[in-house]
Amino acid sequence: MSEEIQKLNQVNISLKRKFKDRKLVFGSGFSTAKIVFVGEAPGQEEENDGKPITGDKEKLLYQLLKTAGINKNKVYFTNVLKYCPSTLKVPTAKEIKSYVPFLKEELKTINPLLVVTLGNMALNGIGMRQPLDNVHGRTFNLGSYELLPTFHPDHALKDPQIKTLLQLDFVKLKKLLDSKEA
Ligand code: URA
Repeated sequence: MSEEIQKLNQVNISLKRKFKDRKLVFGSGFSTAKIVFVGEAPGQEEENDGKPITGDKEKLLYQLLKTAGINKNKVYFTNVLKYCPSTLKVPTAKEIKSYVPFLKEELKTINPLLVVTLGNMALNGIGMRQPLDNVHGRTFNLGSYELLPTFHPDHALKDPQIKTLLQLDFVKLKKLLDSKEA
């Protein structure tokens, strides 16, 4: 088992210890990924499948990766919140904050070139206070990686204009990846 996988397992063990009463959905993908996609929180579908961003959202992201020419084995998916929140109880800011150190540890372990946040909550979770509409498609140097904020695939599935913007952001993503890997 690689050092990265061992460290990610350790992060997951720490999560389980801290959030004992929750059904958690951990990050999934390549531990040496160059790109990490960060979503908001697992839904019921993800809780059933035991991995983040599944179903039509996953299909759309894989389709966008393929069109942009990015290999699937370069990516890892995770969420800020690691459990599926009840529709009756919106997670508080404090609760969201309690999951952030684990996300940071995941990112530190994978050490990607690029992090792509999907939606506003993921963007805020990573520490950016600006609304997504002001910053989507721009890049921000956050030390060891470049951040590219974009829209959530769920939003793109409901709104063709957002889907077009998401597609354009994937073109940018490929260019950035190429320039970083050169
Ligand atoms: N499912 C996820 O895993 N993440 C989201 O942000 C939404 C649904």
